[in-house]
Amino acid sequence: MGASPANELARGLLGVEFDPIGRVRVDPWLRPAGRTDVFALGDVAATGDLMTIVAITRQAPWLAKTIKAIVAGRRVESLARYAPWPSPPILVPLGPKRGASVLPLTKSGPTVGGFLTSLIKGKTLFIPRYRKEFGIK
Ligand SMILES: Cc1cc2nc3c(=O)[nH]c(=O)nc-3n(C[C@H](O)[C@H](O)[C@H](O)COP(=O)(O)OP(=O)(O)OC[C@H]3O[C@@H](n4cnc5c(N)ncnc54)[C@H](O)[C@@H]3O)c2cc1C
Repeated sequence: MGASPANELARGLLGVEFDPIGRVRVDPWLRPAGRTDVFALGDVAATGDLMTIVAITRQAPWLAKTIKAIVAGRRVESLARYAPWPSPPILVPLGPKRGASVLPLTKSGPTVGGFLTSLIKGKTLFIPRYRKEFGIK
């Protein structure tokens, strides 16, 4: 609640339009309206997703795949459009053992309790996973 996008760089781009909370309006391939040479993702882009890391974990692989296809000579408009999370996962640990989560298995859930929330996030807060990803021992 109350998050606002860091849109200073985007405000410097000619022709870019913003939604009422300052997110860049993008086309189905995450390009700001009126620009074919720029992509926007994360909090600053009005992709249809919420402003979360969870959203970026969906947007970034899509964009990487899209850019590879463009480099290989494909036209952007011939590629699959970005589709926002139909129902994003929400993980809310309360300490290492308690909490609640909504898992993206169906359109509206299911909602699970402390045991699964602890197993997925509460116990480690993803720290081992990201240490590994960043090559930190
Ligand atoms: C308290 C809090 C808790 C959160 N908890 C969660 C959570 O549990 N799960 C979840 O999924 N999401 C969570 N979020 C949301 C998540 O942090 C954001 O969605 C995410 O950080 C957005 O990443 P971003 O890279 O799009 O934008 P940002 O993180 O805002 O990064 C933008 C970057 O651009 C830089 N920048 C801005 N202007 C310029 C400029 N002119 N030149 C150069 N650099 C510039 C900024 O310094 C910044 O580093 C939380 C957010 C907050 C505030």
